Amino acid sequence: MTDVEKRETAVAGPGWDYAPAPEARDVVQLRERYGLFVGGEWLEPTETYTTISPATEEPLAEIAQATPEEVARAVAAAREAFENGWSALPGSERAKYLFRIARILQERAREFAVLESLNGGKPIKESRDVDVPLAAAHFFYHAGWADKLEYAFPNRRPQPLGVAGQIIPWNFPLLMLAWKIAPALASGNTVVLKPAETTPLSALLFCDVLRQAELPPGVVNIVTGDGRAGAALVESPVDKIAFTGSTEVGKAIQRQLAGKHVKLTLELGGKAANVIFDDAAIDQAVEGIVNGIYFNQGHVCCAGSRLFVQESVVEDVIRKLKRRMGTLRVGDPLDKNTDVGAINSRQQLEKIQELVASGEEEGAQIFQPACRLPEKGYWFAPTVFTDVAQSYRIAQEEIFGPVLSVLTFRTPEEALEKANNTPYGLSAGVWTEKGSRILWMAERLRAGVVWANTYNRFDPASPFGGYRESGFGREGGRHGLEGYLRFE
Ligand code: NAD
Repeated sequence: MTDVEKRETAVAGPGWDYAPAPEARDVVQLRERYGLFVGGEWLEPTETYTTISPATEEPLAEIAQATPEEVARAVAAAREAFENGWSALPGSERAKYLFRIARILQERAREFAVLESLNGGKPIKESRDVDVPLAAAHFFYHAGWADKLEYAFPNRRPQPLGVAGQIIPWNFPLLMLAWKIAPALASGNTVVLKPAETTPLSALLFCDVLRQAELPPGVVNIVTGDGRAGAALVESPVDKIAFTGSTEVGKAIQRQLAGKHVKLTLELGGKAANVIFDDAAIDQAVEGIVNGIYFNQGHVCCAGSRLFVQESVVEDVIRKLKRRMGTLRVGDPLDKNTDVGAINSRQQLEKIQELVASGEEEGAQIFQPACRLPEKGYWFAPTVFTDVAQSYRIAQEEIFGPVLSVLTFRTPEEALEKANNTPYGLSAGVWTEKGSRILWMAERLRAGVVWANTYNRFDPASPFGGYRESGFGREGGRHGLEGYLRFE
């Protein structure tokens, strides 16, 4: 019996069993070894590492660790493609490629969903219903802008920047790629993108989509490897760096680029407040809490990881939340019934374990529903902490795992003060029946995105991004395009 099972309290789920419903894995054909995608060709790697499935620790493929010289070759290929054709193409022609990419992503959706779950550990129902459709939607949306930039920015004569270096994290590998590549190409830039070291496979499969779409060679280049490859990309002669990842690395990049003429956007960490008022529809709010923190194992920059509940309803909310947590199915990411998949890496699991231990040591009450975690792979049960003080590390630091900290408040002013008591400012949620209270809170919450009576909703037309330690710049919408343009 695992620790999690021993910890179970009287609160339990409905107690029925689901038959296994595994998605067929053979839709994905993996190569043994992947090179770097530069100038439309695969470069033989000089150095490699193994990428694995975090659910089973099974090796999946050998991946290139790009050297600074190889990164430089990719940047040179992107420069050549920018100068020899891409930037001069009419927007309507660029749009055709983006539309093609979007349609191919839709056609190959199942393959991408399986691969994303295999390499990243996320439940197939999320990669199938969220990651892949949203990635395609970003390409469709930006295809629409490619020939309308003059209308998006009237009288400002928008021009592409040149070569964009893009660095993305492991929590939404394909979706983050789409958030980066689609606006860059729509604006007439070329790209060198580096996926995260633990989840390179969907970006490498995407190279095949680029070939199918007949995108001119060098317009998109993919270099793989860890932070050293990312740092080499930041150092190279690019015109723009778009980074999504941790606040720590974001700050290092900002220092590296200080004084250089390189446009920078940073999408960094978060510690979002999800605020439940006593007049909220509690059952609906409980679904929102679960979606806010257990979606994608809590590996979500905008996760609602700090729950603020009005004191008069806290008992009701916690009781219903624990009951709902008992119904979450944790396990095989490729099973269509799974709600919570594997933690992305051993390193991330250790970080979660360390922060959870600190929460217990500092005096918070932990609850985890009964669930049998697989023996192999990286797993962490959905967790909620009550009796949390604002000073505890679990209320201050980004855990980036399925761990919720519950705090209480009495008045809207107190909720607001506590919600804003964080160095981050990415997102927030408000649950109340009163429209005036939603607007009052939204005006005062220091967060780039505020959801009302819902959580974790995304649309390519809606700009996303933070401020303070959550970064600057926006992705999505007209605001997102601006980050890839200069104005004459
Ligand atoms: P990370 O900062 O460790 O890594 C992100 C990427 O940067 C990876 O590709 C990594 O290889 C690369 N990298 C590492 N060191 C580098 C360096 N010195 N120079 C250049 N590149 C370097 O973050 P992570 O652990 O992969 O991702 C989790 C973080 O990302 C969380 O903090 C999360 O909140 C954040 N995130 C933010 C958003 C957003 O939109 N704001 C979205 C998703 C994730």
